[in-house]
Amino acid sequence: MTTPSRLMLSWGGATDQGRVRANNQDAMYADWGLFIVADGMGGHQGGEVAANLAVRAVAKAERGSVSDLRNAVVEANRLVHETAIAQPELHGMGTTLTALAVDQHGEGHQFVVLNVGDSRVYRYRDNQLEQLTEDHSYVAELVRRGDIDDEAASVHPYRNMLTRAIGVHPDVEIDEWVFEPAVGDRFILCSDGLTNELDDSAIAEQLANADDPGAIAQALVATANEHGGRDNSTVLVVDVQAEPLTTKDEPREAAEDDDSTDLEHKSDETPDIPDHAAGEAFEIRVRGSTVKQRSWLYDQVRISLGAALITLVLTVTTAAMVFTIGWYARSGYHVDVVANHVVIQKGRSGGLLWFEPTLEQWTEIQISELSDTDQSRLANSGHMSTLDEAQSFVATLQTRQFGGEDGS
Ligand code: MN
Repeated sequence: MTTPSRLMLSWGGATDQGRVRANNQDAMYADWGLFIVADGMGGHQGGEVAANLAVRAVAKAERGSVSDLRNAVVEANRLVHETAIAQPELHGMGTTLTALAVDQHGEGHQFVVLNVGDSRVYRYRDNQLEQLTEDHSYVAELVRRGDIDDEAASVHPYRNMLTRAIGVHPDVEIDEWVFEPAVGDRFILCSDGLTNELDDSAIAEQLANADDPGAIAQALVATANEHGGRDNSTVLVVDVQAEPLTTKDEPREAAEDDDSTDLEHKSDETPDIPDHAAGEAFEIRVRGSTVKQRSWLYDQVRISLGAALITLVLTVTTAAMVFTIGWYARSGYHVDVVANHVVIQKGRSGGLLWFEPTLEQWTEIQISELSDTDQSRLANSGHMSTLDEAQSFVATLQTRQFGGEDGS
């Protein structure tokens, strides 16, 4: 008979806007047995709103079973999608969402990973780093099909283009994994700002340090910035530990080198263990550190978009030259074709320096369905100064294709 023991989770996280982006559109959440990373996308404040809306929706939802968590992600998708439709300035926003949760139902405890998009969950076990999630991105699909290799994928101009995201469509398909945790497992949830700068071996190198999870998360984010910091990067590190259930003593050993500040979770905040717990093989015990919840951002954005713009202007003055180039490269829009679909890209066609165009809006219009005339109109459409202009242009394509006015 195995000695009853208590499963303990210890975690820490870090997020940074990086060296190029004007704001941080990543969001994260860590709480009793639920860990989430989201990476928002969309112009104006859309990315931040989408990521924070989705994280909050999942965080506040009912917990306990795998289906509760799945329903929460479905609900998050609905919420982001409806908000995007209701508010014109948020149109087209979406977010990745990856979550690790403890399923407390049944005799033992299982871990659940849910994923939509290209944020990742890794498991580090026996010095091996394994990506548990599958990226829902255009280049990841090319790699899976064998069309390009990892190296080509890492520099592909459309490596940021998602094939699945929260909020883009009324429905969402969610990947799901359920598995048994083992003592010593270390889980890493991260946004692509980390994985575009560091390959798996570089990440594994840092994880080998038997360090505090918060310190490792901060080191990984800092290393992503050293490698260029071209995107927001977010890392949550979750360690699985155990202690015998025979003692009721509070665990102390991990608290000594805890340099956390805000929102620290102390061990004595752990919910009381029910009387029958001694009969179970495992009991959940969680503590964490240095987790900054960023869900406040959404409220702030709603209250004052103007304040956010002022912050943006101030940011411009601190890095005027780099930003001027970036502004030029990223100002305006152009209509492009990605994966056979007509899309609106923000920025100059082809990019400039490291300022590549970013996907502003994905459409269901397939290039192959357009007439020759419209295909050449699209090819010659060039630079457009406003999103309205680009959308109006796309609408003319749509009208010809789907309008049905000619009754053909
Ligand atoms: Mn990102």
